[in-house]
Amino acid sequence: MTMLSVGRPTRAGEALDPEAPIPAGRGLLQDEPLIFELGGWGQTGVDFEIGDGDLDAIDLPGLTRAAPPELPGLSEPETMRHYVRLSQKNHAIDLALYPLGSCTMKHNPRLNEKLARLPGFLDIHPLQPQSTVQGALAVMDQLAHWLKTLTGMPAVALSPKAGAQGELCGLLAIRAAHEAQAARDGEADARRVVLVPTSAHGTNPATAAQAGYQVREIGQTPDGRVDLADLAANLGPDVAAVMVTNPNTCGLFERDILEISRLTHAAGAYFYCDGANFNAIVGRVRPADLGVDAMHINLHKTFSTPHGGGGPGAGPVVLSAALAPFAPTPWVVHDGETLRLEEHAQDGPAFGRMCAFHGQMGMYVRALAYMMSHGADGLRQVAEDAVLNANYIKARLSGVMSAAFPDGPCMHEVLFDDSWLDGAGVTTLDFAKAMIDAGFHPMTMYFPLVVHGAMLIEPTETESRRELDRFCDTLLVLAAAAKAGEVEMFKGAPFHAPLRRLDETLAARKPRLRWTAPTA
Ligand SMILES: *Cc1c(COP(=O)(O)O)cnc(C)c1O
Repeated sequence: MTMLSVGRPTRAGEALDPEAPIPAGRGLLQDEPLIFELGGWGQTGVDFEIGDGDLDAIDLPGLTRAAPPELPGLSEPETMRHYVRLSQKNHAIDLALYPLGSCTMKHNPRLNEKLARLPGFLDIHPLQPQSTVQGALAVMDQLAHWLKTLTGMPAVALSPKAGAQGELCGLLAIRAAHEAQAARDGEADARRVVLVPTSAHGTNPATAAQAGYQVREIGQTPDGRVDLADLAANLGPDVAAVMVTNPNTCGLFERDILEISRLTHAAGAYFYCDGANFNAIVGRVRPADLGVDAMHINLHKTFSTPHGGGGPGAGPVVLSAALAPFAPTPWVVHDGETLRLEEHAQDGPAFGRMCAFHGQMGMYVRALAYMMSHGADGLRQVAEDAVLNANYIKARLSGVMSAAFPDGPCMHEVLFDDSWLDGAGVTTLDFAKAMIDAGFHPMTMYFPLVVHGAMLIEPTETESRRELDRFCDTLLVLAAAAKAGEVEMFKGAPFHAPLRRLDETLAARKPRLRWTAPTA
């Protein structure tokens, strides 16, 4: 793509070089180097009054700094601009629809933010005496109550800090339960295998491996569900758990979920449900009624706490009665009128803890605010509208793009494959990159792996009909261009992004995570 031929700014009397690129940006968006490259080691936005005498008073024999720290020095306005410019390089849910399937990128209500910033939540410290943080403990207690109510499960471990860590927590509880059972039987725990369907999120097999299990894949039926016969054939005395996502990552409800849990339990294994897609069924289906033993809930998906660069996750795990005794510490207990965090379980073979302290307090506040502001009927409507929106997109795009599972409705996300691009000379990747030029963040690409060239779209309930139409109209125009053989507009895309098409494989395999000072 040619740069605008305006040339660099020149000193008076110098000729313009019409070929030189404009260095500063594009439109009103500014280019921005790394903060370290902005230089100015000697500058600061703050005046520190530290005389030599103060430094001498510090008693750190042998540890006194010999060279100044290589921190970038910026004035206050430069600092503000640096971070605002960086923020503009990132897509945000506050900017436009963020259709990443499986990620549930929904609007983060500002009410949640307001409550999380109340001084009683914002300015507390985990080492404060518990008598001074009774309100925060009450939030944790109430959040636990509603998570248990919504899932029908008797126990919840709040502390895991992401869905993946919740999975690990659940599998460690399962392992502890099997080990306890084996000890009672006077045997060694012989359950070494976790069964995972082929459509599973990558974290499922990774978690099972991390917990020390062998992973065995379970096949899928042509209509996108777990292959029951394959599951039954693989269940046996060596299986510790079955991990199933419901609704699954094809955006489909596992029709045979009750049979899956029955078979699993009959084989003496536990049923782990990946609950990242709880958004589709919250308020309508209680996982306990499906026979689930452990399920993580991504507060940052279903309960609208910011993520994707916008904040930390939180992945509480609900546990069945069989697994509840194996929950990690800490948990909130009632001592008469006061609340207390139980940090060390005296009784019961808990496996320890998942993290320092108690988890993501700010996310607890936001998630509880979201639940309370929606109420029971509101949460049910969340699920209904999320499913409706996905089906609206499915209906609008199916005439042109090929739905991977065209029969029947989908749940909260709709999966397309790339068979509609056959012979067009355009791939899923090309199509996604052209979406960036047209103003939309791409959907999840090439996942799940069970369909060719997957495009997984999850609009969430927070998109209006108008936004959905803008999105669908754009995709229909792009799809028509692809089918009409306008390959050029796809192959080089994105043309309008600050950075063009990147070598994503290289970036993933050899990430450059550290800035090194130029040597010259
Ligand atoms: C998001 C997601 C996870 C992992 O959750 P993180 O919070 O990203 O660790 C697991 N499974 C599914 C289906 C997901 O969508």
